[in-house]
Amino acid sequence: MSDPRDDAKLVKLIEIEGYKSIEALMETVFSDSVSPAICMNERCDFTCKMEPDQDPGRCDECRTNTMRAASVLAGLI
Ligand SMILES: [Zn+2]
Repeated sequence: MSDPRDDAKLVKLIEIEGYKSIEALMETVFSDSVSPAICMNERCDFTCKMEPDQDPGRCDECRTNTMRAASVLAGLI
């Protein structure tokens, strides 16, 4: 089962990136091999693009390795 915090961040990321649904976002991930990512820290909603299967990346705002790809959040990778 997915973590509710992961779900909340995933929803936020979809909203920030302007996708209509998780499916729309995943289509982009699979066609472009690049995934939007969001910082998992509570007070940070920094987003960037990452490799879909990349391990947590570095947030430029927090300077912690808390960037997580949408594909990982969704449990698809
Ligand atoms: Zn951050």
